Amino acid sequence: MKLAYNRMNNDTIHDLWDREHLWHPYTSTIEPLPCYKVDRAERNYIYLSDGTRLIDGMSSWWCVIHGYNHPVINEAAKAQIDRMSHVMFGGLTHDPAIELGKALLEVAPHGMNNIFYADSGSVAVEVAMKMAVQYAISRSGDHNRTDFVTIRSGYHGDTWNAMSVCDPVTGMHGAFGRALPIRFFAPQPRCRFGGEWDDADFEPMRQLVEEHKDTLAAVILEPVVQGAGGMWFYHPEYLNRLRELCDRHGILLIFDEIATGFWRTGKMWATEHTDVVPDIMCIGKGLTAGYMTMSAVMTTREVADTISRGETGVLMHGPTFMANPLACAVALASLRLLGESDIAARVAHMAEVMKRELAPAADHPSVADVRVLGSIGVVQTREPVNVGEFQKECVRRGVWIRPFGTNVYIMPPYVTSDDDLVYLCRQLIEMLPR
Ligand code: PMP
Repeated sequence: MKLAYNRMNNDTIHDLWDREHLWHPYTSTIEPLPCYKVDRAERNYIYLSDGTRLIDGMSSWWCVIHGYNHPVINEAAKAQIDRMSHVMFGGLTHDPAIELGKALLEVAPHGMNNIFYADSGSVAVEVAMKMAVQYAISRSGDHNRTDFVTIRSGYHGDTWNAMSVCDPVTGMHGAFGRALPIRFFAPQPRCRFGGEWDDADFEPMRQLVEEHKDTLAAVILEPVVQGAGGMWFYHPEYLNRLRELCDRHGILLIFDEIATGFWRTGKMWATEHTDVVPDIMCIGKGLTAGYMTMSAVMTTREVADTISRGETGVLMHGPTFMANPLACAVALASLRLLGESDIAARVAHMAEVMKRELAPAADHPSVADVRVLGSIGVVQTREPVNVGEFQKECVRRGVWIRPFGTNVYIMPPYVTSDDDLVYLCRQLIEMLPR
C-alpha cells in the first residue's frame, strides 16, 4: 500500500522518511493524506521542491498576512538575532517586548492595559481562562466561580482547556471523553453578519448564563467570525447583548481574536464590528506575520490588579519563551507595516473581488452557502470535501487551498494581486465536487 502510493506520485508528494517518522496535523500515520514538500516561499507564492508554484489561499492558516519572505520583516529578524534571539523574561526585560507592547496598546480596543506574551494561540486561550478563574477567586474569594460558557461550533486550540471550549461534537471532545473539563454550550448564533437581527437569537445564551451565573468565571468566544469550527460569520449584535449580560452578572467576557485579528475581517479587530470591548482578549497568528510562534493576552487594569491583590498575588503562568525578543521584533515590524499602508482599503478591495468572483458558486449544485467578510471567502458545500483529492487537484492547478469538512475557504495574504485572487476564486469553484 505504502509503496504503491509512493510509486503513484512524484517525489514532492511525500518524502518517505517524513511519511514514516513525522507527525503532521490531524493526519494518520498509517494512511497519511498527501503532503507536498516546500522549497521556499515568496510574497503569496509557495514553491514546491519540484519547482511547482502555488498561489497561496491559506496564509498558512491565517497568519502570513504580509506574504512570505518579506524584506522588511526579514531585516528586523536579522537585526534582532545579532543582538540576542532570546533571554528569559523573569526578572529581565528588553526593548522588543516594550516597543511591541506600546504599539499593541496603541491599536488595542479601549481599556486594554496589561499584556501577557504567550507561546501560541492555544496557550493564549489557556492563559486567558486561567486569568478569568484567578480574577473570580481573587475578587470575591469564591472558589466556585470556575465554569465557562461558550457557543457551539467554536474553535480555540488544541491544548486541554482550549479543547474544552471547542465544539463538543465536531471538536475533540469525543476523542477525550471525560478527561476534558465540562463546559456549557449555547447554540451557534444563527443571525448572519450583515443580515437582520432577531432578539430570539440571543435567548438561549441569556438563559444559559443566568442559569449558571453564580459559578461562571467567563464567557469565551470568537467574536463575529467562527474560524476552524465552521467558518461562520454571525451578527455583532449578539456580542453587544452578551457584554450587557456579562456585566449584569459580574462575569468576564473573553474574545478569542487569534484568527480574526490584524484586519482579517476588514477591521483591525473583529471587536470593532460591535459596540463593545472584552475584558480579556487573545491574539496570535498574524501577530508575527507568520514568522514564528507567539501570542498575547491583553486585559484591563482591573483584571490584572485584582489578580495581583488576590490570594496568590500573581498570575500563575510563565513560559520559558515568554516575550521571545526575536518574535517581538518581528511582530513590531509587522505592526509597523500594517500602520504604514492603507490596509483597510486593501482588505475592503479583496472582499469586493471575492464577493464578485465567488458569487457564481451559489448556483453550483453541491453548494449550500457562499459568504465573504474582509479577506475571508467561504464556499460551504452540502457534503464534506475529500481533502486529499481536492489538494492534489489544487497542486495540479497551481493553487493552495485546504478545505475542512464542508468548508472550502480562502484567506490569502494581503499582498495577493487581483489576478491571483481571481485565479484562486475561479479554481476553487471549478474544483468543487459535482
Ligand atoms: N483560537 C482560534 C480562534 C484559532 O483559530 C486558533 C488556531 N486555528 C487557535 C485559537 C489556536 O492557535 P494555535 O494553533 O496557534 O495554538
